[in-house]
Amino acid sequence: MSQSSPQSRVAIVGAGLSGLACARELKLRGISCTLFDRGRSLGGRLSTREVRVGGQSFRFNHGAPALHANTPEFQRVIADWVEMGAARWLQEPRVIAGSPSTQTIPERLASGLDVRSSSSVVSIARADGCWDLRSQQYPDNSVRFDEYSNVVFACPPEQARRVLEASQLGIPEELAAVSSIPAWVCMLVIEKANENEMFPSTIRCDSAEGVASIHIQHQDKRRAALVVTMSDAWSMTQNGRTIEDAEPLIMKASLNALNRVASGLYQLRHVQFAQAHRWGLARPSSRIDMACLYSTALRMGFCGDWFAGPHGHWVDAEAAYLSGIAVAEQIAKHD
Ligand SMILES: Cc1cc2nc3c(=O)[nH]c(=O)nc-3n(C[C@H](O)[C@H](O)[C@H](O)COP(=O)(O)OP(=O)(O)OC[C@H]3O[C@@H](n4cnc5c(N)ncnc54)[C@H](O)[C@@H]3O)c2cc1C
Repeated sequence: MSQSSPQSRVAIVGAGLSGLACARELKLRGISCTLFDRGRSLGGRLSTREVRVGGQSFRFNHGAPALHANTPEFQRVIADWVEMGAARWLQEPRVIAGSPSTQTIPERLASGLDVRSSSSVVSIARADGCWDLRSQQYPDNSVRFDEYSNVVFACPPEQARRVLEASQLGIPEELAAVSSIPAWVCMLVIEKANENEMFPSTIRCDSAEGVASIHIQHQDKRRAALVVTMSDAWSMTQNGRTIEDAEPLIMKASLNALNRVASGLYQLRHVQFAQAHRWGLARPSSRIDMACLYSTALRMGFCGDWFAGPHGHWVDAEAAYLSGIAVAEQIAKHD
């Protein structure tokens, strides 16, 4: 039996943007694949949280608030998303936001794909030229074994290393060399101090007190819903804090930042809802100048936002998406 028989079946660990891009490209090329994601919903860091405050629903894009395209290649991709109604321009042709929310983008990309959410890949083992993949389902913790011809890790480097270590497999040197930095964000609903005040959609801050930017998610005369993103430096020094510890610090810094651009009247009593969130693996601290990693011998690949592309131009969501396509192309080429 040849290496590519039985028919190629690819397991993709992670249904964030890189995993979804990979799965769509494989499907386009007639290669069957299954996406596993340990989260209840897919999209990874392209996520949206909905909360009700005082009888009103607010949606917070507490992961990526926007997606940036540096290359014409990715600019064409995001233009398609705008065209199909999953996104809207913030700055044509380079910056989009999901429409109505960030999570709309992964949800639309997942249409027609085989996605197993609440399903964590625990380990993989090589047997008879195939990968036996062990996954654990939530919430019942049941364990499942499936056989695949190829495995792709479409997740931050630490998460890929965890599975390889649990599988007692070697770590490729490129994978060993990268790591991620955290980001603290906070979702706030504030009562307007002045009903005529309208905030700009994005407020860039000087990071003096740790606030990097504030993205307005919704505003009317009475209230504004905001996502506050703390700076890399603040997030790294405060990484060990609990949510309860971090929340009041972020709230105070946010109100000070708002007061610098607005009426100066915002006090803690104006805060109707606050919830901090720590992304432990928010962004890679460095990137590899490659499109993806793929071993034809092992039939194992890696993609994600820790790849900067062959010319080092890809960043963030763009890097995730284009590296997902690149690994799918490698699989199609060698199968
Ligand atoms: C606060 C914040 C702000 C950002 N702002 C921007 C921005 O303005 N512009 C921009 O372009 N980008 C931004 N980004 C970056 C962007 O969100 C990411 O680059 C992109 O979403 C990464 O996609 P990914 O598929 O590589 O990884 P992820 O989205 O992290 O997806 C990986 C998935 O793998 C799953 N997973 C991991 N291990 C396992 C396992 N063992 N089994 C099953 N599933 C597993 C995880 O649950 C996750 O869903 C931001 C990110 C953050 C956190």
